[in-house]
Amino acid sequence: MTLAFVDACVLVTALPRSILYLASALETTDYQLVYSPYVEDEAVKNQRPGTVPVTTLRTALDWRVVPDVPDLAPFDFHDTDPKDRPVLAAAIANHTPFIITANIKDFGTADLKAHQMTVVHPGLWLAYRLAASDYVETLTRLCAKRQRDPKTPLATHIQEVAVELPDLFDRYRDIFGPITPPLLPQLHETYRGTSCVACGRPVTGLGPLCLNH
Ligand SMILES: [Zn+2]
Repeated sequence: MTLAFVDACVLVTALPRSILYLASALETTDYQLVYSPYVEDEAVKNQRPGTVPVTTLRTALDWRVVPDVPDLAPFDFHDTDPKDRPVLAAAIANHTPFIITANIKDFGTADLKAHQMTVVHPGLWLAYRLAASDYVETLTRLCAKRQRDPKTPLATHIQEVAVELPDLFDRYRDIFGPITPPLLPQLHETYRGTSCVACGRPVTGLGPLCLNH
């Protein structure tokens, strides 16, 4: 079972957060999600008014929280944004090799290499961690609870996943049958680090996959 640490920017976005957590509960997926109190505080501060507080979701859904690190000095970070250093330190201290974040550029390549850590966009993570049947099952569970459009897996796939998790959409583009694809956003960077997104083994090049994938 691989542990992945969820960053605050992902916790505040309903669709990526919902798909990550719903999919992690399936028997056929092999990752578990954690985050720390610092991340939850950052998420709550940045949530839009009127949305369900992350703290309430965590309590209701029994999400797993791991401790923060009180002193960052021993990590000797160099090129990570100061506001993301507590995130990186908590992930390292809790033996969580992947951080799922939309802010790849805030995590420095030297710091990641020094601690054998990897940061990955939620869409890229899900593209390689969800089998096709798990993706369909997750969308079905998500839509079962929805009161508003899009309420079907196909509509959610085209209208929301394509926009917010483009790598996941791209991997399973025609899973419900051939579609006319919407214009996909071009993400500047979706991966930095040392481990294969699909299996966790070391990568040899700059890409997100090892030689087996
Ligand atoms: Zn691999």
